Amino acid sequence: MREDNPFLKAWRKGLKGVALVYPNRYVGGIANVGLQYIYAEINSRDGWICERFYTDVFRGLRSLESGRPLRDFEIAFFSLQYEEDYFRAVRIIEESKFDGLKVAGGPCCMLNPKPILRFFDAFVIGEVEKSRVIDAILEAKCKEDLVGIEGIYTGLEEKVRRIRPQKLDFHLRRQIIGEGAYGRCVLLEIGRGCIRRCKFCVVRQIYSPPRWRDVKVLLEIAEDYRGKVNKVALIAPSVSDHPRIKELIAGLVELGFMVSPSSIRADTVDEELMELLVSGGLRSFTIAPEAGSERLRDVLKKGIDEEDVMNAVKIAEEKGIRSVKLYFMIGLPKEKDEDIVEIVRLVEKVRRVIPKVSVSINPLVPKPHTPFQWLPYTGFDDVKRGMDELKRRSKFLSKELSKIADVSIESVEDFAVQTILSRGDEDVADFIAKGKPKLRVAYKFGLLKYLERIPVDAELPWNFIDHGYKKERLIREYMSDDDAVER
Ligand code: SF4
Repeated sequence: MREDNPFLKAWRKGLKGVALVYPNRYVGGIANVGLQYIYAEINSRDGWICERFYTDVFRGLRSLESGRPLRDFEIAFFSLQYEEDYFRAVRIIEESKFDGLKVAGGPCCMLNPKPILRFFDAFVIGEVEKSRVIDAILEAKCKEDLVGIEGIYTGLEEKVRRIRPQKLDFHLRRQIIGEGAYGRCVLLEIGRGCIRRCKFCVVRQIYSPPRWRDVKVLLEIAEDYRGKVNKVALIAPSVSDHPRIKELIAGLVELGFMVSPSSIRADTVDEELMELLVSGGLRSFTIAPEAGSERLRDVLKKGIDEEDVMNAVKIAEEKGIRSVKLYFMIGLPKEKDEDIVEIVRLVEKVRRVIPKVSVSINPLVPKPHTPFQWLPYTGFDDVKRGMDELKRRSKFLSKELSKIADVSIESVEDFAVQTILSRGDEDVADFIAKGKPKLRVAYKFGLLKYLERIPVDAELPWNFIDHGYKKERLIREYMSDDDAVER
């Protein structure tokens, strides 16, 4: 594995170790700016050394740097980016026989750590930069030492307020360069949070307020890598919403970099932006219309219409792009068969402009802290009927779309499991410990109740986390458009 690591530290007697565990593959972990930050921070401290663990390196049981077993470390810090990672995280804890302090962080913990409460001593709720969290964890001898620390949840607190830096006036000046999800590149995190209001999305809820980084600082960081790396990945939930995105891309291209944006909204595309992206090496373009019909896009409050999608696709084609990827969701509230047919129609329309189209379809997971958190999975109040309907719709899409595009459709049952892990309480822990992420196993544990519609006045497992929004606003958004109407 080729990797340039400016933070690499040698073990010597007396050093205490922190294991940074990413319970998934190296490519994802190395492309995560937050993890790079924690790694750099800990290794910069006297008396401490941090090493990384990935599931495709010694099955997550030994470190990448020195091959040391996990149980030799004082502290294990797990990054939980996806609910499915719970199973791998728990396997790693068990197989390694790790008995030090176990801490978890990442978006899943910020949404709802209750299903995994049993397996960890503490959870980080928020963004750690400029906080006392890392120091508090390093100083802690046991879970009790972390009680009452801002941004930490141990299971003993009644309320925890999310922590976050007010301004993004810092960025790693140096970073590990490896072969990550965006290839071998410099990661520039250009912003956090989102200015949009998509009802299904957790970003606007758990990374608010939207914050952007200064173009000058970003260009300075990139400049230091000039001649060493030829590509820059721009990281943000909605990259093209950066108020000075064109200036940033133009500057990076001028420095000789290829530029890979993590996401572009269709309604921000114009000729100038597309030209810049193409000159930065863009060959394939991704758009997320999310729904096929205008009616459902309105329900989602995505704020993108068909005209925006087609306009972006046409501009992309004119500028030489020959491949487009489209993201859609199914199982949306009030979804009908006509809306599913509309997905096929929209893909056909795009296909008439761009020769190579790939389509990715995911069932909607009603996520905690969003206005959709009370919705039943699949959108139907009768869970069994909803599952059957969604499977039928997904089969229809697979058949029709495969005639015109490369199509990948996520399993309705796997996403039901994701919903259970996402909206569950402590009683989900036994299912996770069992290590079989299958819906039929979840059924045996009596967990299908987490797929049902939740009454608005119910006590939610994640109520104790204060993300700074008003619940009444969520309820209002949920009730609008009659999302709450039974069907
Ligand atoms: S634009 Fe993207 S990141 Fe922003 S709220 Fe919508 S889905 Fe979330």
